[in-house]
Amino acid sequence: MRLDKFLAETGVGSRKEAKQLLKKSMVTVNDQVIKEGKTQIDEKQDVVKFAGEKLTYQKYYYYMLHKPQEVISATEDKWDQTVIDLLHDEDFREDLFPVGRLDKDTEGLLLLTNDGQLAHQLLSPKKHVDKEYFAEVAGIVTEEDIDLFAAGFALTNKELVKPSHLTIEAVDEQNQLSKIRLIIQEGKFHQVKRMFEAVDKKVVYLKRLRMGSLWLDENLALGEYRELTAAELEGLK
Ligand code: URA
Repeated sequence: MRLDKFLAETGVGSRKEAKQLLKKSMVTVNDQVIKEGKTQIDEKQDVVKFAGEKLTYQKYYYYMLHKPQEVISATEDKWDQTVIDLLHDEDFREDLFPVGRLDKDTEGLLLLTNDGQLAHQLLSPKKHVDKEYFAEVAGIVTEEDIDLFAAGFALTNKELVKPSHLTIEAVDEQNQLSKIRLIIQEGKFHQVKRMFEAVDKKVVYLKRLRMGSLWLDENLALGEYRELTAAELEGLK
């Protein structure tokens, strides 16, 4: 592959930045300074170093993030901190993006990757990937709500939602608060909040726990992230 492409894909910088670094003699291939981005290299055999550090070729990156509130699920934004801003410098790559969106006030599991194919697979409505949420809901969630959610129903704007699996974890009658788990396979805008709105209740706290086979690692504090393990990645593919 071309050396400039290799440098971009190992996260050294954009293709344009890689070209500038090559010009500055910062890149060696098998200990020889190479300045031409179009030089062909064998990414499995050749030893490429940037500023003396060996680069390891990896095309795709996969991180699990415990998204905190107040951070938006976008790659850049003028006003708000984005989920990509939470990455440390050494993990920052221009091509990473969040797989789907969580609302600004939603916490929990968010996958960050540069693998568009996997993202498409996880988000495509045809693939029926489970998304499991924990929520605190103002109001008393009832058996009727469970049955309605299981059957599928119309939101207040008449949009139909498919059957989902609602379970009640706890009900606090005195404070009129319910703790629930909900598994949905769609990803409509504000879907969980709108589903409860349709039964006259309000989601006051929302956290995504799982996407497909991938569970949020509870050892990650809010705002922390880590690479997926090989087994986690395998499970998602
Ligand atoms: N449903 C919502 O209402 N908000 C989210 O962030 C995710 C699912």
